[in-house]
Amino acid sequence: MALARRKTLATSTLGGLSFTFGQCAALLGIWAGGNLIVRGQLTSGALISFVLYAFLVGRGFRNATAFYADALRGIGATQWIFAMLERVPEMPTEGGRRLAQVAGALDLEGVRFTYPTRPDVRALDGIDLKIRSGEVVAFVGRSGAGKSTILNLLLRFYDPTEGRVVLDGHDLRELDPSWLRQQIGVVLQEPVLFSGSVADNIRYGRAEANDREVAAAAELAAASEFIERFPSGFHTAIGDRGVQLSGGQRQRLAIARAVLRRPSLLILDEATSALDSESESFVHDALRALDYGPTTLVIAHRLSTVVNVNRVVVLDRGRIVGVGPHDELLQTCPLYRQLVESQLVAV
Ligand code: ADP
Repeated sequence: MALARRKTLATSTLGGLSFTFGQCAALLGIWAGGNLIVRGQLTSGALISFVLYAFLVGRGFRNATAFYADALRGIGATQWIFAMLERVPEMPTEGGRRLAQVAGALDLEGVRFTYPTRPDVRALDGIDLKIRSGEVVAFVGRSGAGKSTILNLLLRFYDPTEGRVVLDGHDLRELDPSWLRQQIGVVLQEPVLFSGSVADNIRYGRAEANDREVAAAAELAAASEFIERFPSGFHTAIGDRGVQLSGGQRQRLAIARAVLRRPSLLILDEATSALDSESESFVHDALRALDYGPTTLVIAHRLSTVVNVNRVVVLDRGRIVGVGPHDELLQTCPLYRQLVESQLVAV
């Protein structure tokens, strides 16, 4: 605000001064020229040409200074971009083994983790968990229990402080991070859609996919039914100038985008909003869709979700306090019973 005010003050002072001087110079020119005409030393045609030329030259100078200011601003901005490009990420993005095939078995072995920015809090405090290939596992727990942190470690945005995360027998640290991320489909709670057509948004999952594959992915994600009701189907523009989508529809498009690649691991972050009744069936639809059986991890906020998965993992302050199917946990895990009684959505 202070900078903007200084900038406005400087430009208006400069603008005012240059305008006043310009007008004075023009007056002076006409006065001097008038005198010369009176004395017969100048023709009125020559004076008019002089004023016109002076005006053109003045305008040229004014434009040139504006260009100079823009150029300076451009140079400033590119310096920042280059500084960004040259930054070396702490986590390598390339390099490491690429497996020929991924079955999707996951193993968390004694995983402890502390975020570098919050050294006083153990986000994960000794997690031991084996997930079989093709299993559908839901994570539940209060806010801050460590659910998202587990996903962050799987996607290798961070490495565990202690212990290891193993995919099909290989420590994630041995694997190529970009390859690893290609094997994982992620559907976030608030999916990011771009202004563009429905098809463009789905194809973002795999740019070279053809129309048939895009339509098949939409069918899998139970998205075709609403897409076909749009005026131009897959070519309908979404976003500011196109149709607005409901929360459930946005998530279904995000699922279509994720399954287009047929990833071996699928991570679903269920929408928390209890108001959106359409999202109610979100995980249901997604799981029904995945006929090829990827290992699926769901951050669950709804009762309907946890009832339908193979196993539920209950987290509390970075530890696992219960693992098992819904019915069994109801008997054995007091925290789980409490979460279920509050319908899970309140977490
Ligand atoms: P959940 O997903 O179950 O709500 P999180 O995994 O996000 O929980 O959080 C676990 C703990 O880690 C919390 O104490 C939280 O405050 C902390 N945490 C989460 N993300 C970050 C971060 N980016 N930087 C520092 N601390 C974080």
